[in-house]
Amino acid sequence: MTQQRWTAVDDYLTDLVVRPGEALVAAQESAATAGLPAIAVAPNQGKLLQLLARLAGARAILEIGTLAGYSTIWLAGALPDGGSLVTLEIDPRHAEVAIANIERAGLADRVLVMYAGCIVEESPVRDLYENPRHPYTLGLLGSLPRLDAERPEKLLSIEGLPPDLIDYPKGCPFYARCNYRIDICAHEMAPLKTVGVGHKAACHVDISVAQPTTEHPYEVV
Ligand code: SF4
Repeated sequence: MTQQRWTAVDDYLTDLVVRPGEALVAAQESAATAGLPAIAVAPNQGKLLQLLARLAGARAILEIGTLAGYSTIWLAGALPDGGSLVTLEIDPRHAEVAIANIERAGLADRVLVMYAGCIVEESPVRDLYENPRHPYTLGLLGSLPRLDAERPEKLLSIEGLPPDLIDYPKGCPFYARCNYRIDICAHEMAPLKTVGVGHKAACHVDISVAQPTTEHPYEVV
């Protein structure tokens, strides 16, 4: 079968029986607008994923590779009340688009930020954007072109690399890249503690009031 015919069959099935909702259509459009790779599942494949998850009686789903959250939204539609879906995305730009899409679909009210295998911040979605409390989250948000804001003149990149997971650091895993670090961070991992309503961060420093402590700023690119 040629690609052309394959696509025509996909389109026929989509129009006839799948009929994706507004949130799914908007997710596809936002992915294209943001220039994400066009590698999401087709609508009929998304529906099939949803049916398979329903048939399996899934209550918890792990998705690796969120992209723009298109298949995430399909899969989430299979979950019963109280079900959960964890989706992992390594590219911050993709994650930004996905968060907006998942939030628009009414499926997410909380975000977990992970660094080097640890949860470093947990927050309601809006509060995370407006009031990030971990330097890694701050760096991530600074590195993203926001879809809902004026594009900043310069984006930031977080210098350095994540730690070696085989030779895990004793203190904070973000220490080597952090421009808020203080002495204790080198040898003691901060616990995840409450910093606001439903908002937790694992950091020794209150970055809402502290100033950067190092000449190791996030690199402007
Ligand atoms: S604990 Fe210290 S090194 Fe880790 S993120 Fe917070 S300020 Fe930076």
